[in-house]
Amino acid sequence: NQPLIDKVALVTGGSRGIGAAIAKRLAQEGAVVAFTYTSSSQKAEDLAQAIQATGGQALAIRADSADVEAVKNAIAQTVKTFGRLDILVNNAGVAALAPIDQFSLDEFDRLIAVNIKGVFVATQEALRHMGKGGRIIMIGSINSDVVPFVGGSVYALTKGAIASFTRGLARDLGERGITVNNIQPGPIDTDMNPADGAFAEQLKKAIAIGRYGQADEIADMVAYLASPGAAFVTGASLKIDGGITA
Ligand code: NDP
Repeated sequence: NQPLIDKVALVTGGSRGIGAAIAKRLAQEGAVVAFTYTSSSQKAEDLAQAIQATGGQALAIRADSADVEAVKNAIAQTVKTFGRLDILVNNAGVAALAPIDQFSLDEFDRLIAVNIKGVFVATQEALRHMGKGGRIIMIGSINSDVVPFVGGSVYALTKGAIASFTRGLARDLGERGITVNNIQPGPIDTDMNPADGAFAEQLKKAIAIGRYGQADEIADMVAYLASPGAAFVTGASLKIDGGITA
């Protein structure tokens, strides 16, 4: 049972962490998968080969989400290679934590460039190719609603923007049969937020389920939102957070 057979997906930031789990999962569902990365070339190649080894098709593209031309090229290359684009997962994101008095303008610009501008450019470009049944899936964060630690204001700002962008896009695209949704993970065990990190002990106490989430648990929700069965879900921000915000 492969509900995404004949679909082409692009996942930004797919070489590691949540994006890699999403790319793998979409391929298992039958989709052809392109994904971007910035520096982990080996991991990107290994992932593409792992997908190919199980009979899937995959393409790793080096494209920094902060670079407008690179993002446009990644979408053009996906369409040129696979002939279409049905699913865009805006996963690439960066975090930087510092109290507001110490937050540099350079870091602010980097977070805006990757977490917001990159998402806008990828979305606009992807929509040139997407038809009825298209899917845009954001990876936002629960930090758009709650920030239970010091230093997260700018990161939260970027993820809040994604939640509102999702609502507006859902209105723009409903008539075209394209859905737009925002997954808001809580703490997920990746390089960005390791479950054995210094930060983790404090966070775990606040998680109802008592542990970090796994990247695969986010990929499950992406697979659902990408599927034909999710056609009536749009404009939603969906938390997967082990109850940390409960
Ligand atoms: P990781 O840092 O573990 O992985 C990030 C991935 O994105 C890597 O594949 C990396 O590529 C890629 N990437 C980073 N910067 C860029 C860029 N400028 N252009 C293109 N690709 C880029 O992060 P996570 O997997 O944890 O996070 C994925 C998303 O989930 C992010 O949007 C994050 O904000 C969000 N999120 C994560 C949570 C968590 O607890 N982990 C919680 C809530 C939200 P490369 O390997 O080449 O560096």
